Amino acid sequence: DGKLTVQELANKLDKSASEIIMKLMKMGTMASINQEISLEIGSLVASEYGFELVQGGSDEEELEAIEELLEIEEDREEDLVKRPPVVTVMGHVDHGKTSLLDAIRSTNVTSSEAGGITQHIGASEVMVNGEKVVFLDTPGHEAFTSMRARGAQVTDMAILVVAADDGIMPQTVEAINHAKAANVPLIVAINKIDKPGANPDRVKQELSEQGLLVEDWGGDVICVPVSALKREGIDTLLEMVLLVAEVEELKANPKKRAVGTVIEAELDKGRGPVATILVQGGTLNVGDPIVCGLASGKVRAMINSKGKRVKAATPSTAVEILGLSEVPQGGDQFVAVATDKIARNVAEKRQQMAREEMLKSNQRMSLDDFFSQM
Ligand code: GDP
Ligand code: MG
Repeated sequence: DGKLTVQELANKLDKSASEIIMKLMKMGTMASINQEISLEIGSLVASEYGFELVQGGSDEEELEAIEELLEIEEDREEDLVKRPPVVTVMGHVDHGKTSLLDAIRSTNVTSSEAGGITQHIGASEVMVNGEKVVFLDTPGHEAFTSMRARGAQVTDMAILVVAADDGIMPQTVEAINHAKAANVPLIVAINKIDKPGANPDRVKQELSEQGLLVEDWGGDVICVPVSALKREGIDTLLEMVLLVAEVEELKANPKKRAVGTVIEAELDKGRGPVATILVQGGTLNVGDPIVCGLASGKVRAMINSKGKRVKAATPSTAVEILGLSEVPQGGDQFVAVATDKIARNVAEKRQQMAREEMLKSNQRMSLDDFFSQM
């Protein structure tokens, strides 16, 4: 109706009514708490706090409406097809996560590629008995925790690396708890079995104390002894990954517009914002307009884990993408949308909301500062 009371304005701005009355007074308007003021005056006050008064609908409703533009498609059962598993390697520092990932990658390197695997996109793919397995390269919990904290779940299973000469350590326990909390199946790789001090039985004992009973002790936890250094046991470990994937019946619909999660992103001097994303549903194509956290853009190019340019990426494919307006955050969701305009509009609205959030918290801080000086 083009009018609102002082109290209503105060509520909208998250301020006290008396503060708003003071502001109005300074602007030459005397108003009581239940008095109606015009939208023009209300807008003036709001702008003092860095806000824009829009008629009708809260910001949340507006955001919801705009997010509907994304038109995330529901999957029909008949469109679901098998997809490769996405695996994370976790474990205590120095227990051999990086070495194990190196060993896994090297099982697949053909002689023509050897020495050419310098391109690093944050994820790698290996073929095991003709089946693809995707490994996230950021080992440890950082990726896992920060993504989970943001509500993103990208991994289908975790390989828990435990050094046979060191046993369960604090970060091993953390990793176990993360996997449990995320309800992600775990495979234990008892590493460094080549070492003289290796004691796999002690590791199994300690695992049981954490509630993980390994198969050869009558439990259901798959446990594979390996040596990342000597490249022993790697094939068996990978076969177990496939086995777990089989049990999980991992499926996705490749026929819709792509959705997925940002694994990592950075600003590249020459190429601009670069993000490694995991496609989790649908198929992403070069030229697709996308929204990615606060960023938007059109996929200009896609580079796969072998450093090759590709035109399309199906579910469980990690690719580096170029063409975003800014650098998104790890854990951000991306969605391919119908038009460039939708992509821009959604990203702009999200940015506006983010700015307002920031303003609000800044203002709370400065008010506190103000009162602490009294
Ligand atoms: P991360 O911190 O878990 O990534 O551990 P790294 O992969 O960096 O390995 C830590 C150290 O353990 C390095 O010096 C590796 O060479 C060594 N290491 C890793 N795997 C093995 C293994 O299977 N056997 C032996 N003897 N050493 C290993
Ligand atoms: Mg490491």
